[in-house]
Amino acid sequence: MRMTEQRRVIARVLSAADDHPDVEELHRRAHQVDPHISIATVYRTVRLFEEAGIITRHDFRDGRSRYEEHQDTHHDHLINMKTGEVVEFVDAEIEALQEAIARKLGFKLIDHRLELYGVPVEG
Ligand SMILES: [Zn+2]
Repeated sequence: MRMTEQRRVIARVLSAADDHPDVEELHRRAHQVDPHISIATVYRTVRLFEEAGIITRHDFRDGRSRYEEHQDTHHDHLINMKTGEVVEFVDAEIEALQEAIARKLGFKLIDHRLELYGVPVEG
């Protein structure tokens, strides 16, 4: 992939993000670095990055695609339905259970996605 300066800015913004931003938020952040970056460029770039496997796209059911840098280590997501905040977690028991389920069904598990949707328990 040809890495233009604008793409480099968008890649840096994605790399610095830990909150699974959508395209509008990415544009807002990239725009602070380079005011010439248009939202169309951000859309095009995230599509290219996604095709290249550099970033992962998520659909957390709020109608906006959200992005994060591809990571070699696995994690799952819990979505706070009140605030839209995304909490990352890994649970060894769930991981093992999913593998056991796949095996029982005659499969070797290659990948999975798990999204939990919840509201904070008032305490
Ligand atoms: Zn994540």
